[in-house]
Amino acid sequence: MRYVSTRGETAHLGFEDVLLAGLARDGGLYVPESWPRLAPDQIRALAGLNYAELAARIIAPFVGDAVDDAELHRICRDAYSRFNHPAVAPLVEIDRNVWLLELFHGPTLAFKDFALQVLGRLFDHVLKKRGQRVTVIGATSGDTGSAAIEACRDRDAVDIFILHPKGRVSDVQRRQMTTVPSLNVHNIAIQGTFDDCQDLVKGMFNDRPFREAFRLSSVNSINWARIVAQTAYYFAAATALGAPERRIAFCVPTGNFGNVYAGYVARQMGLPVERFIIATNQNDILARFFATGRMEIQPVAPSYSPSMDIQVPSNFERLLFEVLDRDAAAVARAMGEFRERGVMTLAPEQLRALKALFAAARCDDDRTLAVIAEVHARSGMLVDPHTAVGIAAAKELRGDPSVPLVVLATAHPAKFSEAVTRATGVSPTLPPALADLMDRPERCTVLPNNLRAVEDFVRTRNSLRGAA
Ligand SMILES: *Cc1c(COP(=O)(O)O)cnc(C)c1O
Repeated sequence: MRYVSTRGETAHLGFEDVLLAGLARDGGLYVPESWPRLAPDQIRALAGLNYAELAARIIAPFVGDAVDDAELHRICRDAYSRFNHPAVAPLVEIDRNVWLLELFHGPTLAFKDFALQVLGRLFDHVLKKRGQRVTVIGATSGDTGSAAIEACRDRDAVDIFILHPKGRVSDVQRRQMTTVPSLNVHNIAIQGTFDDCQDLVKGMFNDRPFREAFRLSSVNSINWARIVAQTAYYFAAATALGAPERRIAFCVPTGNFGNVYAGYVARQMGLPVERFIIATNQNDILARFFATGRMEIQPVAPSYSPSMDIQVPSNFERLLFEVLDRDAAAVARAMGEFRERGVMTLAPEQLRALKALFAAARCDDDRTLAVIAEVHARSGMLVDPHTAVGIAAAKELRGDPSVPLVVLATAHPAKFSEAVTRATGVSPTLPPALADLMDRPERCTVLPNNLRAVEDFVRTRNSLRGAA
């Protein structure tokens, strides 16, 4: 399997290089040169497999010979053995033929574990084979940092440094990062905002001698391997509900468009998906886009579903590439215009093609709390605010009631307990594996908002580990 950039200017790469590179050199995103297809028999054969086995079968065609099959199976078994539910991704019916796919049983209680637990192990495998190490650097406003740390902890070939804004992430989020005792995990609390953290990370990547000396790498949401690992649960849910004989619809709480795009990949592979509902909070760039055909940047407004508070859905570029018939020059033009003017428009026939498969709805904070309260009153179940945004969109855009509709439950309610408690008066409890989170010792270094200071810290920690 070879990969091409959505902007077309780089050489075609194999899986290993795409895994380690993240972003393509021309600023585009990697996508497979062609889509592997599963025949209906192969899809049918997925029903009833254990989750790790199913995931390995879905990921295999994308990996090619970069990782041999036995190793890929081992990686998947190991990754999903850390999940706290025997089904890994259980389905729960919440209304007639409307299902929640619970994606929050991983070590950090959000769906990002599905991809990152595999990604960390793939990194380690490929780097060891090459005799290399990397330094993963990232900024977090809360959620991604802990999932990345859990993915990279104790990996021999990886050091990870995560910057968060001091005092601006919740106690649970901070502790999920700072209580990990592994020596290759380095938490930095920056005296500044999330934007300052992001600027520091960009500054380190732009400092070429530094970037090369420490082989900087990232595990952010545009990494292709994250997408394919997520594609697996679309197959798991659909086959459990009768695919390939029955068609199915999904509703996805969306920020960076990685998760819903992973569903699109499943469809490209042959899964009979009738519709994707894109659920956004008040940061509704995608809902506005589907209504008007104009994608227009607006300032980010903080919400109860912070992991969806984004300005630009980066992975949308991958879908754009398909909508523009894989014309990389046209994608480069559109993205250039978007960067310069903050606006991108699609031709009516392109918008029509998109709307045949996708629909989008918006749910603001008040409605989010109302939905959490409603679900609790009706079923006694607590749902997190991101999931609630999904349930709201599913209600609004429910199509043919004979088609199963699966709403992706992207986070555990205890991870966003403030909103859940406000809506229901009930405080969700952390699962047993994290019950003592508030008592564990923390490790974290506070640094000023200063590039030199952060680089010096990375340098010192790296040389200490090199000497050990
Ligand atoms: C990251 C995240 C999202 C958004 O997913 P994208 O792939 O960025 O669209 C939604 N919910 C939760 C809980 C998340 O952590």
